[in-house]
Amino acid sequence: MTTGSGPAAGEVYRVHWLPGTDLLHGSCHCGAEHTDDDPVEMWGWMLTHEHRHEESHR
Ligand SMILES: [Zn+2]
Repeated sequence: MTTGSGPAAGEVYRVHWLPGTDLLHGSCHCGAEHTDDDPVEMWGWMLTHEHRHEESHR
């Protein structure tokens, strides 16, 4: 892979409403997951969390 330039590509995040709740569940391409009831907070998390990189590739 030739990555390393940051999260510039689209469609690396997925968000859905959790059925029966007011909660959003988001997951990042890096494997991180987050649940929040505020879409703004959710996007904030997406943009600021530390991406976990696969360490099996060292
Ligand atoms: Zn991530």
